[in-house]
Amino acid sequence: MSDPNICGKCGAKSVLKGDIGLRTSKDLELIMVVRKDHGIEKKVLLQPRVCAKCGYVDLFVESPQNLKITSSDKPINPDFKHRPLLESDF
Ligand SMILES: [Zn+2]
Repeated sequence: MSDPNICGKCGAKSVLKGDIGLRTSKDLELIMVVRKDHGIEKKVLLQPRVCAKCGYVDLFVESPQNLKITSSDKPINPDFKHRPLLESDF
């Protein structure tokens, strides 16, 4: 998987060039990855890769480090029932 132009399914070097956007049909917001552990919502843009040969769609996040929960993250819902932060959460 070192060559980003190679399809992860059929192995053809036919991944479409250029940015491909995904949008929801309702509010036209981009698809986001949301992590809801501890009531914390992490929004990270999902980037798709589309193979022009077999149609396989690969998704990856633009900034995976932003999905990590840090001590400065606050729950979006103040009524969220806390569980203690664990070493494994970071
Ligand atoms: Zn393919």
